[in-house]
Amino acid sequence: MSEKHSVLLKEDKCEGCTNCVKNCPTKAIRIHQGKATIIEELCIDCAECIRTCEYHAKYAKTNDLNQLTNDQYRVALLAPSFYGQFAGDIKPQQIKKAVYELGFNEVWDVAYAAEATSKKTYQFLKNNSGTYISSSCPVVVRLISLLYPELIDNIVPFNSPVDLMADYVKKGLEKKSIDNYCITFFTPCPAKVTAVKNPLGRKDSSINKTIAVDKVYPQILKLIKTDGFSERSELQQKYQPYLGISWGQSGGENDILNREGIIDTLSVSGIRNIIDIFKEMSVGNIQGLRYLELVACPTGCVGGIFNVTNPYQAKVNIKNNHRDYERFVDQKTNNYDFRLKSKIEEENYQKLDKDFTKAMEKLELLEREIESLPGLDCAACGAPDCETFAADVINGLAQRSDCIFVLRDEIKRLADKLSLLTHEEPPVINNQKSGD
Ligand code: SF4
Ligand code: SF4
Repeated sequence: MSEKHSVLLKEDKCEGCTNCVKNCPTKAIRIHQGKATIIEELCIDCAECIRTCEYHAKYAKTNDLNQLTNDQYRVALLAPSFYGQFAGDIKPQQIKKAVYELGFNEVWDVAYAAEATSKKTYQFLKNNSGTYISSSCPVVVRLISLLYPELIDNIVPFNSPVDLMADYVKKGLEKKSIDNYCITFFTPCPAKVTAVKNPLGRKDSSINKTIAVDKVYPQILKLIKTDGFSERSELQQKYQPYLGISWGQSGGENDILNREGIIDTLSVSGIRNIIDIFKEMSVGNIQGLRYLELVACPTGCVGGIFNVTNPYQAKVNIKNNHRDYERFVDQKTNNYDFRLKSKIEEENYQKLDKDFTKAMEKLELLEREIESLPGLDCAACGAPDCETFAADVINGLAQRSDCIFVLRDEIKRLADKLSLLTHEEPPVINNQKSGD
């Protein structure tokens, strides 16, 4: 895999069990010579393969705390879901204080930008008719650009809250003439890492480093436990974006829109559920909706694989934490530049051939190839299903005999032929005994 993606394979750990092949929602994985390989153009960094690999052969790469140098001005960005990692009685102010003590010069809540995004989305929906999809989950945006390009225009044309917050912070640092800075995001998932390296809808990201939540959590928890935090005084000092923090769980984004009076909304989490929704949308079976909040991880960003706390517990923690603070603060939308700098483009992956004429020729071959296969979709060939395997055969990426059933038939055919041959003798051999 190139630097474009963050989901990678530890080849020595792979047993070729095909679990990841069967569970990849975009059919991006094949087994070759007993090892998994990821087709880069098809991977959306959803991390389903990491979740399903029992041998821990799949992983995602992020930066480490020790990659930040002492001479750098260090800024940390905290995701809304980050707060769900801590028990409900640990206040966001305590968590932030611990992050400062970890060596950061500034600590910012992405939840501020999330609240502002909700406000901007509200205005956008008031001014535009139709059904729109949240742009906050990079997996969803990449999935649409790869497999459902007809829905690209339904994505709200805004940067995601983490990008908005990073742009805002960067502008502030430049105003203060701070050059040697590092904006670091504690990420709940690999997709946000990929969105920094390889963004959609913009050329580059203002985030300089991403560190997985599980790499910083133990140290932060330790600092909180040894802290003499005085809740009453510190709670009153600063406004906390509690409603923005609720974006960390599925339904949090729509909750704010619903409060503002937009009620025709739907919240769906989990990549398979989202694919089901897109299939239904593509044939016009989903109607009467203004806004879809779609997050690839089950239960929302709290379900990201880098998180440490059970996602359902994390949801409870978030709820407990902002229970007494349910208010909508009038976030200034003009703090942020929402507009995407470039259009989200269709990924244009062609299963059979980039050339249209060749693709049509191959289509005929494909149909014949599919017919010759048993249609069991067992993945023993190293492809997720017979149709995908047939396409791989047509493209020279697999051999027909990689299918164990085809191989078995071939062996049987050869065995029958051998058996026949053993009863035949060449004409030079005289079968008739003398005297017959
Ligand atoms: S799930 Fe995939 S990566 Fe993990 S051992 Fe099986 S084939 Fe290899
Ligand atoms: S990250 Fe998702 S899309 Fe990429 S290979 Fe793994 S399961 Fe497939």
